[in-house]
Amino acid sequence: MLGSSHVDPGEVINQSPPYENVDLYSSDQALQAAVIANGAGDQSAALSVFGRHWGTTDMFAAARLANENPPKLETYDARGLRRDVVAFHPAYHQFMHESIGAGLHAMTWRADGTRADAPAEVARAARYYMVAQVENGHMCPVTMTRAAVAALSASAELRSRIMPKIVSREYDPGFRPWSDKAGMTLGMGMTEKQGGTDVRANTTRAEASGDGYLVTGHKWFMSAPMCDAFLVLAQAAGGLTCFLMPRFRPDGSVNGLHFQRLKDKVGNRSNASSEVEFADAFAWRVGEEGRGVRTIIEMVQLTRLDCAISSAGLMRMALVQALHNARHRTVFQRHLVDQPLMRAVLADLALDCEGALALTMRVARAMDLGGTDRSEALRARLLIPAAKYWICKIAPAFCYEAMECIGGNGYVEDSVLARLYREAPVNAIWEGSGNVVCLDVLRALAREGEPAQALLADLRREAADLPGIDATADFVARCLSGGAAEAGARAAVEGLARIAAAAALKQSAPGVAEMFSRARLFERHGAAYGSVVMESDLQTWLLERTLPVQ
Ligand SMILES: Cc1cc2nc3c(=O)[nH]c(=O)nc-3n(C[C@H](O)[C@H](O)[C@H](O)COP(=O)(O)OP(=O)(O)OC[C@H]3O[C@@H](n4cnc5c(N)ncnc54)[C@H](O)[C@@H]3O)c2cc1C
Repeated sequence: MLGSSHVDPGEVINQSPPYENVDLYSSDQALQAAVIANGAGDQSAALSVFGRHWGTTDMFAAARLANENPPKLETYDARGLRRDVVAFHPAYHQFMHESIGAGLHAMTWRADGTRADAPAEVARAARYYMVAQVENGHMCPVTMTRAAVAALSASAELRSRIMPKIVSREYDPGFRPWSDKAGMTLGMGMTEKQGGTDVRANTTRAEASGDGYLVTGHKWFMSAPMCDAFLVLAQAAGGLTCFLMPRFRPDGSVNGLHFQRLKDKVGNRSNASSEVEFADAFAWRVGEEGRGVRTIIEMVQLTRLDCAISSAGLMRMALVQALHNARHRTVFQRHLVDQPLMRAVLADLALDCEGALALTMRVARAMDLGGTDRSEALRARLLIPAAKYWICKIAPAFCYEAMECIGGNGYVEDSVLARLYREAPVNAIWEGSGNVVCLDVLRALAREGEPAQALLADLRREAADLPGIDATADFVARCLSGGAAEAGARAAVEGLARIAAAAALKQSAPGVAEMFSRARLFERHGAAYGSVVMESDLQTWLLERTLPVQ
């Protein structure tokens, strides 16, 4: 007989409920404020519909499925015929359908390939930020498709031919020539075995043939291999050149792209990244021979912006998961969120989350305005790589700290944190690794000369009166002067990004700007999150702002 004091081993107490069925927009005050401050306030209702949909239990479940069932390469069919296709889990296709249906792959372009009116970039960035909180792998082809249009502007005729398929909001995963499809996606192949940064060392060759070129060689990384066409770099007679290589030749036969393997990756597992060989693969030239890097760099700027937005989104989801758990979990008769040291960690994380969001939305605004405003174009040119560097670099440590806030549950695969943590490093590595983007900022600053100095002065003015701005701006200027800047580039670019984040916060979240600047620019703290000392009232305000108590 069991006595009344028996403890039911199946009873579960003191576990937090899942964080799902939330409106990712309306529950995020920082995002709403940044959207308004950057000119997209009229999108609020639509963004809330979007945020509610992406925050449903079903979407979180689909994200898990898409990542637990990674894509498979099907090199041959049952009869031994070459196929070179990749099979994805239906959940991956569901995400592609959702994101393309929402226009995230093309909403910043008009049907003729020119830039859509403001606030297209900000409206897209807000949506991308919410998607990144749920599933990132499928955003690789979405990002590349939207970014490729910038490179295609070097070949107006080609661009006008394929643009109707790109702006289509229909996701068509069929393996058919792009011209027969309802919509198309684009990928990119630059990296070869002997070099990813130094693409001028590419050995892949292209020979003019008929209406196009025949390309022979390889790419060591080429993600989203089921895209309908790829921008690739290859050596033509006139030097390194950009090409558009379709999966099918113009005569309808399967083109010579032979996938060797799919990468077995740390994270980003719902997305496929291939090793590919080109055997006389047909391609159209994009831009002039010898100007391949110049042509494709137009695309890279946009993919870098998406890396920054993606990492900011990963940080947001990591933080709200940690805060949600801390509000429900009791340790020593007190909710974790009321334990002073846990509050210090969460509030410290919240500062970087706010800074990262404000900066990405401000650079999206600069993209929106850059077509007609040269100073905004320069702001985007300099601050996109700086934002990519700072935000993508801090995201892995940020996700790890949020994981630790959840304790053991954070470290197991059932937890969203495990996936966020494994996803985070890739944004720093691809599209210009840390050192490469820092050197890029340095080069751009040197090349732009006076207008670049004017931008630094603008940032200083916008962030005026915030603690630590002047000293940091002087430090950045010192790092950049005297021609010996290369070794100091990381310190300078991080300083630049933090000043820009403070300036952006001053516009969208003035209360947070002061706290961010004090903690990140004025005072010195330990390397780990949680060593910033903040008044308790401010912590309470910041955490309530991060995620309102239900
Ligand atoms: C999951 C995944 C998917 C990818 N998908 C694609 C894709 O679709 N298409 C594509 O083309 N590529 C893709 N890549 C490749 C990626 O862009 C490259 O890995 C990246 O550009 C770095 O090139 P690398 O690996 O050859 O490293 P390297 O070029 O050897 O660089 C190694 C390190 O050296 C640093 N470095 C380079 N130059 C300097 C310098 N002058 N001073 C100081 N440090 C320096 C870099 O920052 C880097 O940290 C993908 C990579 C990953 C991980």
